[in-house]
Amino acid sequence: MEVSVWQSGAPGEPLSRATAHLPEPAEDELVLEVLHCGLCHSDVSMLDNAWGLSSFPLVPGHEVVGRVCAVGPGVNPDLIGQLRGLGWISGSCRHCIRCLGGDANLCGSLESTIVGRQGGFASHVMAHQDWAVPIPDSVAPEDAGPLFCGGVTVFAPLIDEAVSPTARVAVIGIGGLGHLALQFARAWGCEVTALTTTPAKRQEAIGFGAHEVVALADLGGCAGRFDLIINTSNHSLDWAAVIGALAPRGRLHQLGAVLEPIPVAAFDLIATRRSITGSPTSSPASLVKMMEFCGRHGIRPAVEHLPMAELNTAIERLRRGDVRYRFVLDGPA
Ligand SMILES: [Zn+2]
Ligand SMILES: [Zn+2]
Repeated sequence: MEVSVWQSGAPGEPLSRATAHLPEPAEDELVLEVLHCGLCHSDVSMLDNAWGLSSFPLVPGHEVVGRVCAVGPGVNPDLIGQLRGLGWISGSCRHCIRCLGGDANLCGSLESTIVGRQGGFASHVMAHQDWAVPIPDSVAPEDAGPLFCGGVTVFAPLIDEAVSPTARVAVIGIGGLGHLALQFARAWGCEVTALTTTPAKRQEAIGFGAHEVVALADLGGCAGRFDLIINTSNHSLDWAAVIGALAPRGRLHQLGAVLEPIPVAAFDLIATRRSITGSPTSSPASLVKMMEFCGRHGIRPAVEHLPMAELNTAIERLRRGDVRYRFVLDGPA
């Protein structure tokens, strides 16, 4: 079928509307008619080819909310008409030991929504059925898009590592990911601290669920305190202070794709059994559980809506950090 897409012809170039060919859905695949798509910082990294993964013309967009409009062989045709959400991953092999073990996001042959294929800033997008997860009635679909990348990325360290509700959790960076991490950690039952370089966001961080807001520069006053630090920032930090703020057995969980190495003194880990971890989104099962959790606790992304035709404006503003807290571009493309 012919579909409408927003594509960039070369690294750094603005997007323009074009027509593309979408093949018939293959075995296990379905097509979503795109209603809304969130804008993630990874879209900008891909548009700049910052990770060397991009192929042009590039159609970004991997926080999709859409309606199933066609299904391939092996997919229940009753799904047509259902509202589903799609994030960074659009397919996995379903047969390897990672897929079979419930860690499909760690599959060795993942298909990523905007790597080598057409993403969600389009009239239609394709996905394997496992990775386009249903949106329950309890979640507002117009604001749900950011949950499928930013949301599940910060939900993963809580659910996949079975964090205790008595844990002291700190979140670094109160942005597109961090504002959701605060909501999740608060609803999880944890003691929640927001760590920020922007004192102006203090009241908003408390509104998202932080019990306390601490300036990153004052982290030295939190030595030995946190069981889990979720770092959404992609900037280099005073790493000794960050690791020093971990309690014994505490864990720094890195989500921001900082490109410089993180230096760590072995003794800061050894003496207190601290650790440093990271994770890429999560499994389809965690996506489904996250959606139920959001519905039950009233968790929703704080979004600014723009029509998809204003995608370039949204990208420019995201580059400047001028968004609270996530853009959602509304279709039709
Ligand atoms: Zn993303
Ligand atoms: Zn697999």
